[in-house]
Amino acid sequence: MSPNIAKKQRFIGKTAIITGAGSGIGRATAIQMAREGANVALFDLVNDRTFALEQKLNKLRKDCAFAIDVDTSDEKRMEEAVRKTVEHFGGLDIVFANAGINGAVGPIEELSLSDWQHTINVNLTGMFLTLKYSIPHLKSKGKGSIIITSSINGNTRFASFGWSPYSTTKAGQVAFAKMAALELAKFKIRVNVICPGAISTNIDESTEMSEDMGAIVIPIEFPDGAQPLAEGPGKPENVAELVSFLASDESIHITGAQIVIDGAESLLS
Ligand code: NAD
Repeated sequence: MSPNIAKKQRFIGKTAIITGAGSGIGRATAIQMAREGANVALFDLVNDRTFALEQKLNKLRKDCAFAIDVDTSDEKRMEEAVRKTVEHFGGLDIVFANAGINGAVGPIEELSLSDWQHTINVNLTGMFLTLKYSIPHLKSKGKGSIIITSSINGNTRFASFGWSPYSTTKAGQVAFAKMAALELAKFKIRVNVICPGAISTNIDESTEMSEDMGAIVIPIEFPDGAQPLAEGPGKPENVAELVSFLASDESIHITGAQIVIDGAESLLS
């Protein structure tokens, strides 16, 4: 374990479910939380990456990681995955509903119903199922922290032409997080939603770009430097720091918050 990264030990004795843990933001968060003492259940549908991460983390700290092959939009598999996590680690404290795809991008009339439904199913239904099956376990602990990954798209940024399914899911996630925060406050379960700008991950692999984009794109000239703070995309580790703060007791009075993490990108676009 790298001593320069393990600054704190905020998660000793805690168990976290992290969806989309095989790559990008989910992976970086799993590493940070495990380094800080958490047991981490790694939910993803790309097994080689996820099981490699499980091995890596279990070498860092014995039996701290448990990888589960699951599609978060599949109700039966999600119910089973959450149950297996709780059986394996003996409880649940933190839920990071993060798995997502870019999905189909294109003119609305060119998108098929199945394109639309696929993005809705992964980004919105997957998040719903993650919370639905986790909440009873957080309630039985008497407290918990849930963090949902939305995006600046659909919230502070609307100039991504053709991204209507994705942006709709990301706006929906913010509404859902705020509703859930209020509903769950009396159970001492906090729910916060993060809105990253561009972060260097594998997310582009999940983009299905239409060939007809020329028909809808309005040429916009942004000022030089699309992410002024970082002079480029953020790192997954930057987001993992924020998620870890929201998961920890350091943010004990924060719930229903929508936090933009984009190096000022959306202030320009
Ligand atoms: P990524 O592609 O690197 O990681 C996403 C992971 O989610 C992958 O391992 C993928 O296999 C997994 N996944 C996808 N669908 C799944 C499903 N149905 N069930 C289980 N796992 C599934 O991308 P990332 O950038 O780390 O994305 C994480 C989240 O961040 C997403 O919700 C994305 O919309 C959001 N986000 C990313 C950016 C960015 O620029 N990277 C910006 C804003 C928001």
